This record gives sequence, structure tokens and C-alpha cells, in this order.
Amino acid sequence: MGTERSVSAFAAQLGGRPTTVVRSPGRVNLIGDHTDYNDGFVLPLAIDLVVKLAFRRRDDDMVRLWSEQTNDWAEFSLDSLAREGGWGAYIQGVASEMVPLGLARSGWEGVLVSDIPSGAGLSSSAALELSAARAFALVSEVEWDAVEMALLCQRAENNWVGVNCGIMDQLICATGEDDRALLIDCRDLTRRAVPIPHEATVVVLDTGTERRLVDSGYNERRHSCESAAHVFEVGALRDLSIETLESGKDRLDPVTYRRARHVVTENERTLLMTECLDQGDLVAAGELMRQSHISLRDDFEVSSDALNSMAESALPAPGCYGARMTGGGFGGSCVALVDTNWVDEFRTDVLERYQAASGLRGTAIPIRATNGTSFEGLG
Ligand code: ADP
Ligand code: MG
Repeated sequence: MGTERSVSAFAAQLGGRPTTVVRSPGRVNLIGDHTDYNDGFVLPLAIDLVVKLAFRRRDDDMVRLWSEQTNDWAEFSLDSLAREGGWGAYIQGVASEMVPLGLARSGWEGVLVSDIPSGAGLSSSAALELSAARAFALVSEVEWDAVEMALLCQRAENNWVGVNCGIMDQLICATGEDDRALLIDCRDLTRRAVPIPHEATVVVLDTGTERRLVDSGYNERRHSCESAAHVFEVGALRDLSIETLESGKDRLDPVTYRRARHVVTENERTLLMTECLDQGDLVAAGELMRQSHISLRDDFEVSSDALNSMAESALPAPGCYGARMTGGGFGGSCVALVDTNWVDEFRTDVLERYQAASGLRGTAIPIRATNGTSFEGLG
């Protein structure tokens, strides 16, 4: 998405020109879901679906932001932050973390345009948070530390918005790299760039279904993981081997056992996937994605009919190495790894199959890995 759209939206809503445009990407996770809050491994990439936040500084402490997607304003004073519903909560949440640290010292006004579908599991929320954080950092003339800012935005989403998310979304949005996925160790936040072989294209498959039951289902899963770690006396499920889990299986109720089995095997698959991509073994990489979907569907139980339909429609489509649900689940998107020569045929075929199976219309978007949150000055 070009900068022009944000600049002309700015002129229409606020008059005049912005001084700066911040760009913040969404993300898709190749493999490693529900592992981040278990101190485990994830393999996401920042994608070329982005939000653009065009803004200029204000001399007072007011923040005024218009969103093209929702066609309304979020408006507040840094002096008197207040919890309210709606998307303004993401911006105020970021402000609530930055103000006490002296990182948000001035107001600003701007517009937000986005081609990340919201609620589709592509992390529009982290993109929104990081773009606001960057705007605050720029008007306050403070240095940008991508990892610190990702942590700050995660705290905003946990503490202000009330979504108990792990660190994956904010960290990949802040630190993504062109043409690479990042293997992130969610315990120490170290990252290793994993190039995506040119012969393969990552395709996002939006089921067109909203995520439901997200908060209750999510918190319940987190609780199961914590109680399994407690029973095995490990800091987090990251520290549990499959052998220990299997031999101590009787110590857990059947549901908690399956939840733990997903996390333990998913960590393993994520590390293996990294090796497969390093070696260019796309067939083996695809098989790991297929297994990941089954584990999320049957053991962790966070898939949905639409996600299952989409993943099953993708597997037999031309050029498909593998496909799985991606992100938190309960609706949203799948991700597929597709032979670059077959992307067009793949897209047509998977969407036809999906519609025939589910009665729903999906979207297939080939994507490129991009760099994390950045900005351009307009002089
Ligand atoms: P995801 O992060 O997977 O897209 P979330 O439920 O975490 O889903 O975040 C979606 C929410 O983020 C929306 O309900 C909305 O409040 C906010 N949001 C995302 N994009 C925009 C946008 N362009 N304008 C306003 N709010 C947005
Ligand atoms: Mg989100």
C-alpha cells in the first residue's frame, strides 16, 4: 500500500499535510501456535499487508486519530486517559504505558489507513499498537528500541485492552525482516532470520469468518498449560520433553494432557521446520504444517469448521506443500506454503473447493515477508 492514500486521507480529514508516515506490518505465523506464552518457539513473518499512520505533532497533549477502516475518530488527552471500548483503547493503552516512562511527551493528530483485515488472525491489533508507539516516540524525540517497544505494546494489550496475548505478534511486527521468517525464542526473545526459499510462496487464506469465543477460550487454554507445567514442576511447557510428558501422562486429566501434548510437539515441529527451510526441503516443511493443523484441531481444540475446511481445501490444490490454521484460532486465517510456479492455479482451486465445502467465500493472498515498523519523513 502506497503512502499517498494516507496523505490524501489526512488532507481530507485534518487539512494540510502530515509530517511523517509510519508503516507497521501485520504478520502470519508459519508454524508454532500457542507456544509463545509457554516460553516456546514461533516462526512468523511480517507481511506486506500494513497499516499506515500519517500524522503531525500537536503543541498540546491531545491525540486525535481517524481510521479509514472504521470511519471514526479516537480522541483523548494524555493527561486524562480513560478506559473505553472500541479501537481507541489500543492507542490509549500504548499511551498508558509510554506516559509514565516519559516516552509520550506530546500529542499528535493523524489518520490510519490499513489493508490488514481486522480480526482475521493477521494481527492488525499489534500493527495498530506499534504504529501508535512509533508516532509517540517520534513526536517525543525518543530513541526507538524495537524489542522494548514490542514488550511495551504487549503490556498495553494485556493491561489496557484486556487480551492476555503472548509476545509473538508485537515482536514480529516490530522486528520483521524482508524475505525472511524469524525463529523467535519466546523465553529470551532472541531471533534468528530464516530465509524463505524462492521456490516457495507463503499464501494467506482468510476464511472470512470472525473469531469467536476468543477471550474465554484463550484464557482457558493458558490456564491448562500453566497447570500442566505446575504438575511437572517445570517453569513452562517449553521445558517439558515429550518423553517426560508421555511417561507421566497419568498425572494429568485427559484434556490437560492433550493441551500439553500440543505445545510440546508444536515446539518440536517449529524447530524442525526451521531446519527444513534452511535445507530447502519444502515437502518436509509442508508435512510439519499439516501435522501442526491436526494438533491444533484435535489436541488444542482451537480450530473451527471454516479453518478445517480451508486447510483441507488447500492440501490437494496444485503446488501446495502444506497448510494449517494460523494464529490464535477460533476463526480467522490459514497459511499455506505453495510452489511459486503454481500460485495462480492454487488460489483458484483452493477457493473453489473451500466454497463448495463450506458455502463461504474466502480470500487467498500471496504475501511477501517485509521489514518491521518503519517511518518516512515527508519533509
Ligand atoms: P487481529 O489482531 O487478529 O486482527 P484482534 O481482535 O486482536 O484481531 O484486533 C482487531 C481489533 O483491532 C479490531 O476490533 C479493532 O478494534 C482494532 N483495529 C485493527 N485494525 C484497525 C483499523 N484499521 N482501524 C481501527 N481499528 C482497528
Ligand atoms: Mg490481535
